[in-house]
Amino acid sequence: MGIIIKSPREIGVMREAGRIVAAVHDTLKNEIRPGITTGELDAIAVRTITERGAIASFKGYRGFPASICTSINEEVVHGIPGSRVLEEGDLVAIDVGAVYNGFQGDAAITVAVGKTSAEAEALMNATRGALEAGIKAARSGVHLGDVSAAIQAYAEERNFSVVREYVGHGIGRDMHEEPQIPNYGTSGQGPVLKKGMTMALEPMVNAGGWRTKVLPDRWTVVTADGSLSAHYEHTIAITDGETEILTQL
Ligand code: MG
Repeated sequence: MGIIIKSPREIGVMREAGRIVAAVHDTLKNEIRPGITTGELDAIAVRTITERGAIASFKGYRGFPASICTSINEEVVHGIPGSRVLEEGDLVAIDVGAVYNGFQGDAAITVAVGKTSAEAEALMNATRGALEAGIKAARSGVHLGDVSAAIQAYAEERNFSVVREYVGHGIGRDMHEEPQIPNYGTSGQGPVLKKGMTMALEPMVNAGGWRTKVLPDRWTVVTADGSLSAHYEHTIAITDGETEILTQL
């Protein structure tokens, strides 16, 4: 199928979808505290998404049983919300996807529950910074490998490791379009970015090694060594100039 270029009108719809995803994060940030369950966060997210005329795109995706992903501490991605109670010091990554008028928005943030460790703070800062470095690098005319390399360098310069088995992706009418966007790579390699490409950049960064494994629930991805992990993601659009972040208010 190849990489799908979006028209300005299509990007306009994706901006609306992205704003809804950002609104969910904005709402959940204020709700996250010790004692709340991840299932309660999921319910709040569903309400926020449906109130705005959108649909939670993760629900039922390949059989995923919830509407958002909540991944705590050593969990990397795809944690299933439920009865787990958040505790002081936990790191919780909240991944949200919404489809609005046929187009997708996809973003993730990591939030500390109350006060957390210095290591966790450093990991969150490095992961957020790696995403920002990727967004900054993602300009019309550069190679996709330049973006991957920028993300990897930012995390590794801070002595953290980037997950290899899960990657960012093109996004549009489908949540996962071409190309795949690894969080590691070589500058000058891969397809050249063009105006109208829309993609989800999403570094998953571990405090220990990069290897992961999947829990018996067949969804929750954890670090193989039990170290902490953080995840940030934005859906972006390539323009003639500054890259546009679509998943923002
Ligand atoms: Mg994604």
